[in-house]
Amino acid sequence: MPDGIIRVGTDEWEIPVGYVPGMRVPGRFFLSEALAGLLEPGALQQLANVATLPGIVRYSLGMPDLHWGYGFPIGGVGAFSLDEGVISPGGVGFDINCGVRLFTTPLVRADIKKPRELIESLYRAVPTGVGAKSTAKIPKEALLSMMVKGARWAVETGYGTTRDLTRCEEGGAMNDADIRAVSEKARARGIPQGGTLGSGNHFLELQEVSEIYDEKAAAAFGVKMGQVCCMIHCGSRGLGHQVCTDHLKVLETATKRYNIALPDRQLACAPAGSPEGQAYYGAMAAAANYAWANRQMILHAARKEFVRMFGMDYESMPLVYDVAHNVAKIEEHTVEGRRARLLVHRKGATRSFGPGAPDLPGDLAAIGQPVIIPGSMGTSSYVLAGTATAMERTFGSTCHGSGRIMSRSQAKKKLTGKEVADALLARGIIVRAPNEAAIADEAPDVYKPSSEVVQVVHDAGLSTLVARLTPLGVIKG
Ligand code: 5GP
Ligand code: MN
Ligand code: MN
Repeated sequence: MPDGIIRVGTDEWEIPVGYVPGMRVPGRFFLSEALAGLLEPGALQQLANVATLPGIVRYSLGMPDLHWGYGFPIGGVGAFSLDEGVISPGGVGFDINCGVRLFTTPLVRADIKKPRELIESLYRAVPTGVGAKSTAKIPKEALLSMMVKGARWAVETGYGTTRDLTRCEEGGAMNDADIRAVSEKARARGIPQGGTLGSGNHFLELQEVSEIYDEKAAAAFGVKMGQVCCMIHCGSRGLGHQVCTDHLKVLETATKRYNIALPDRQLACAPAGSPEGQAYYGAMAAAANYAWANRQMILHAARKEFVRMFGMDYESMPLVYDVAHNVAKIEEHTVEGRRARLLVHRKGATRSFGPGAPDLPGDLAAIGQPVIIPGSMGTSSYVLAGTATAMERTFGSTCHGSGRIMSRSQAKKKLTGKEVADALLARGIIVRAPNEAAIADEAPDVYKPSSEVVQVVHDAGLSTLVARLTPLGVIKG
């Protein structure tokens, strides 16, 4: 660990005020010894930089998947006062409301006699790759509804069931979307991409439930040993990216106008209540809603393939949950014994609300929110449950994945996409992607070991292990 970092618990570390000039609060992060060895020092610097921002509350927080990102680190959480605090696109990321959802099927692995055929038909059903175009013709007015109603628009349009909405963070839509703050250019990018997976890290994966850690929570979440599940990871595509790009420009100017001193230009921000801050918040919410609609459309397309190939009921494939991992939201939290409304930025971090959280459907109220943490195409992914400890310590947040340890260019030098795919196939995992290069970028060893990362959040009590999922086949964007 770099000099000056203080160990404050088994897997918990502090960056004291003063580590970089201007810090208003300390940084706190969660890492085991083994993961500490994989940490990029730049990510700690970024975590400390976030602690200099006006109105930050208690700590700048890092989860065990912490790594370098644009301005804010990925695996970072920052909560800001609504009166004195700021909002920053760097604290959300370019892929606004990138997130993960998981649905179960009534199948077990042995029911899938032709796995290659299933993967191929899912691949055909879900447009994939950088410029993937939607098969659904989305009219201009529908785009507006997507941005306002999110997953509800999709369900009303025939993509899914109303029950699905109860299994989405925020019910699948944020209330404060402001479509006026979404540029024509962003809209134009959104129209052809509704219902598409995108590229790179995004995926649709067939998995098998291979271990249950918590029987009661697993039963409440509808997750059973041996069951085949499907996990979907994607976000707001070009629309969200454009919203981020557009508003970063505005906020870079606003930073100067409001005399906010920044250690890094990439932390461009504005007071949460300023016109510029509000415009970004409204546009970000619109992009987040688009992402929820997008994941709902993909869920529907995947379910239809299962219905077609196995003749099962559409309703026999319930959604376990959908979480956002790149978003800023106004939430109520207890700080020093008092309830406060805060603007919580989660950038590569997942909400982890504990039992009794207002947003949970009745049957999950006693258990906590389902948390979905992907691993990699060759390692396990996990379902966890949100906790009271997360509410107390991390503004109800946990990690979002394993986190990258190798850049895309490094990965490409190591193995070719074909070598990676062949090695996975030898382990029974089918990989399908539009091109092979995309596979090399995403080899399992470009990520930290997922088991280690989730163990840290489990031990720290930020979310508790419920089930382990192993990959059977994956579609990569
Ligand atoms: P991000 O949104 O930060 O790009 O990725 C979230 C996480 O997804 C990564 O940290 C990684 O752990 C996980 N991940 C990336 N690719 C795959 C994949 O193909 N399958 C699974 N299960 N997880 C993946
Ligand atoms: Mn993501
Ligand atoms: Mn993404």
